[in-house]
Amino acid sequence: MINKNLPILPNEKNVIGILGGGQLGKLIALSASKSGYKTHLYCPRGDNPAEMVVDKVTNGEWNDFEKLVQFSEDVACATSEFENIPSKTLELLSGNTNVIPSNIVFRCAQIRSKEKEMALKSGFNTPKWFLIKNTDDLITATQSLGNKAILKTNSFGYDGKGQFRINSNSNLFEIWEKLGAVECVLEELLDFKREISMMYFKSRDNTDGFFPLSENFHENGILKKTIAPAILNDAIKDELKLKTKKLSENLNFYGIIAIELFELVDGSIIFNEIAPRPHNSFHWTLDGCENSQFDILIRTICGLPVKDVKCNTRWEMKNIIGDDANNLNEIYSNQNYLLNLYGKKNIKPGRKMGHYNRQII
Ligand code: ADP
Ligand code: MG
Repeated sequence: MINKNLPILPNEKNVIGILGGGQLGKLIALSASKSGYKTHLYCPRGDNPAEMVVDKVTNGEWNDFEKLVQFSEDVACATSEFENIPSKTLELLSGNTNVIPSNIVFRCAQIRSKEKEMALKSGFNTPKWFLIKNTDDLITATQSLGNKAILKTNSFGYDGKGQFRINSNSNLFEIWEKLGAVECVLEELLDFKREISMMYFKSRDNTDGFFPLSENFHENGILKKTIAPAILNDAIKDELKLKTKKLSENLNFYGIIAIELFELVDGSIIFNEIAPRPHNSFHWTLDGCENSQFDILIRTICGLPVKDVKCNTRWEMKNIIGDDANNLNEIYSNQNYLLNLYGKKNIKPGRKMGHYNRQII
């Protein structure tokens, strides 16, 4: 069906709403501004780097329905940079404006068990997993995974937070309490060869495409480095694309979505999780592609046509995490390190402070 309100082109009325004030919000706003759009940010008060670059800010909590309604009346469309935004908030905003990706997509990404069920339904393989509601479930499932597992809270995890590795020496009761005695999933601990991620995008005019793949290196559950484009056999890549499109159809998806994957030693690919927003493992596209993931997100939510994004050279992206931000001399001293600092006021261990991209041979 043709939507007569599309495309959304930049003018005084067509303000783009951004939910969440972190670095992803900042980089979305910069892309919107580059294309001539005004932006309105909604986020709770705090150390919000996105506030530096938007046209208007509303500081409010995610359950401040009065402020949210006012915000939604001011914007032509809205997108969330924050994965754990309450889906009730998105549902409320959807009453007044176009929220892309939708609350249904976010709800799926927020609940690991739902996400895995959707992945299986779309043809992906997942690690063996069990839904854990109490310590009895945990004991039984740990045994059936041979005491080599990873316990993750079913909701609200990010950057490796809300998860614990389990082996035969683990005190399961203690781990259960440490995670807050909440519903969890227990997954088999995979001995993978490497981690890769895909990014798919679909515009509201129904055109779609993919970025080249990224290969990712994590430390303590946090992304440290990405090399891109990752090399993968064409037949396997095509199969992954089909499954990703199936998943997107199942969710009636528009916007951009990252899919995190594990490649095992035998070459098989296992689904880890989705993120329906710009993804850290595609920050290299800021310098490595004519259209970055943020540029493409703006095109998809405004209903402008999109197609596969290509890249002819190889890139390395490295995150600047916590204390790294105090030791930037080497990066400053070399013009080939394309530095992107987010402008966060407080350095904390594990906090993403910036990244740099570097072309590699
Ligand atoms: P988050 O939502 O915090 O990103 P993930 O499920 O992606 O959580 O886990 C973070 C990282 O932990 C992964 O990128 C991977 O390195 C490691 N990991 C997660 N699940 C498994 C697993 N089943 N087996 C082995 N490593 C895993
Ligand atoms: Mg992850």
